[in-house]
Amino acid sequence: MAKIYVFDDEPSILLMIKKMLEKAGYEVDIALNGKEGMELFKRNVPDLLITDIIMPEKEGLETILELRKSYPELKIIAISGGGRISPGGYLPGAKLLGANIVFEKPLDQKEFLQAVTLLLDETRTKNFPRQL
Ligand SMILES: [Mg+2]
Repeated sequence: MAKIYVFDDEPSILLMIKKMLEKAGYEVDIALNGKEGMELFKRNVPDLLITDIIMPEKEGLETILELRKSYPELKIIAISGGGRISPGGYLPGAKLLGANIVFEKPLDQKEFLQAVTLLLDETRTKNFPRQL
C-alpha cells in the first residue's frame, strides 16, 4: 500500500484530502506545517508528499526545496490557494523547486485523485519494470 503524507495548515482541507485518499486505499499521515511534517520524515519516507505552500512555522516552498535535496526520487504535489504575487500565486515557484505536479485550490477531487494515482503508478513501474 502506498504511503502518502499531507501537509496543510487548514484542518478542513487536511481532513478532506486524507479521507479521499484513504477511501482510494492509500495510507495517509498528516501534519499542520512543514516543521511538523519533517518530523514524519524522520520515521518514514512516503511514496508521495502533498504539501500546501502557505503554512506557519515552515512553509511549503522551503519544505519542497529541502526534501527534494534529500530525496530526489520523492513524488511531490504542491497545492495552494494562490497568493499576493500573481493569480497563479506560488505554484510556478513550487514547480521550479521540484514539485512534480501543482494544483490550485479549491481542488477538483476527481482530477486530483487521478494525478495521485498517475504519480504513484510511475513509481511502481520504475520499481518493478516489466520484463519485455
Ligand atoms: Mg495554507
